[in-house]
Amino acid sequence: MSFSYKEIWDRCLDEIRCKVDDRSFKTWFIPIKPVNLKSKILTIRVPNKFFFEWIEDNYIDMVGTALFNQLGEGVGLQYQIVVADHKDIEGNNKHQLELKMKDNLYFRIFEEDFNTAINKNYTFENFIEGSCNNLARNAALAVSKNPGKTAFNPLIIHSGVGLGKTHLINAIGNQVINLNSDARIILTNTERFTNQIIKALRDNTIYEFISSFQLVDVFIIDDIQFLEDRTKTQEIFFNIFNFLHQREKQVIITSDKSPMELKGIQERLISRFKWGLITDIQKPDLETRIKILESKASRDELHLPDEILNFIGYNVKGSIRDLEGVLISLSAHSTLTRKKIDLKLTNEIVEKFSDNIKREISIENIQKVVCDHFNIPVEKLSSKTRKRNIVVARQLAIYFSKNMTELSLKEIGRHFGERDHATVLHSIKTVRDLIQFEPMFIETVTKLEHKLENGLIKIEY
Ligand code: ADP
Ligand code: MG
Repeated sequence: MSFSYKEIWDRCLDEIRCKVDDRSFKTWFIPIKPVNLKSKILTIRVPNKFFFEWIEDNYIDMVGTALFNQLGEGVGLQYQIVVADHKDIEGNNKHQLELKMKDNLYFRIFEEDFNTAINKNYTFENFIEGSCNNLARNAALAVSKNPGKTAFNPLIIHSGVGLGKTHLINAIGNQVINLNSDARIILTNTERFTNQIIKALRDNTIYEFISSFQLVDVFIIDDIQFLEDRTKTQEIFFNIFNFLHQREKQVIITSDKSPMELKGIQERLISRFKWGLITDIQKPDLETRIKILESKASRDELHLPDEILNFIGYNVKGSIRDLEGVLISLSAHSTLTRKKIDLKLTNEIVEKFSDNIKREISIENIQKVVCDHFNIPVEKLSSKTRKRNIVVARQLAIYFSKNMTELSLKEIGRHFGERDHATVLHSIKTVRDLIQFEPMFIETVTKLEHKLENGLIKIEY
């Protein structure tokens, strides 16, 4: 049996009447007139803008729930606001109406939509702090204790891959819920968010989608760089962002680069990002790498002596995901082959693993590889000798140092027996010229380059 919209509204009023005191009911609910019901969206007419705002601020949950109880999922509320009230020629009351819709459409989301995407395994307790990440971590902790109420709104965390962004935002989610189990958090990634928007646009439910954010206390979105060049999604994100920010709701964003480096993102969004705190996570230093390894190994009940942890820490310098990868392989190897985990096995795995890792190439490493190739001692590079093969080795090592490290000419010169800037430049030019004209030389350069890029820097053990 279906009811008319008037009956539906009456039933809602019956429910509301039990929840509010008599005076409020008379003041705020009696003057409301239902005017229409279409695809579960009830339009009500209210006497003025103030009235409308009062309902929105104080009773919207109650009205939403009542409607939901009558009509089920997907209900909406739309207002007509009387902005002028005058009599026409015949003396009838005429209403001039302003239609309020966009921001005020109430859409009920099931409770299950909140908080479910948070990964329980990522917490502050198992996030190791180091100088590479402590600003980001402390800001995240502050925000999770007081969402929306700190100066860090929005909080933006950026870094290269595998350095802990996703871990941190989940830690925030978990902490917020620990402190307030009623908090409503949406944690999503840009891919999923974009797909929801595309779907909502197609189904004509975009206002409902946007309005659903009325219920959100903390909105966390991962990998915002995927918004690049997606104009429509950016526009909707911008609306949601403003909506939440105005209501002091917390927004947390991650990105693989700093917002200033994002291309194809609207300027107005970037400038909003600057309202809060932008912080980055750097690659971990040796000490932090070893702490992380210790923590992960003990979590996985993998008992590794210090020398092994140190060895991995020294040699795997990329991301934390790489460190985890080595531990996982080690544990798999030792279980499958029943081999004892010693330095030899560790070295094999680190070496295999490092095929996938783009390592930093150090000047010491370049010198060692070049000298090995020419079979000369490394010290000779810094000497004054002008023996032909040593001169070539020195020039090549200087050339690679310029191309493969970030060092300045001056710093490079310092590593080659305090040679000056002009000598360094001359070496680089000589190698460049030789590469153009000497096929044999090209072969040597290519071989060495290959060795440098793929070879593992081994520490002595
Ligand atoms: P990102 O999102 O920056 O690419 P993730 O958060 O996915 O990186 O981190 C990659 C892996 O490294 C995850 O398993 C995460 O738990 C771990 N990790 C990152 N940073 C830390 C840290 N400081 N302490 C412990 N584990 C970490
Ligand atoms: Mg991530």
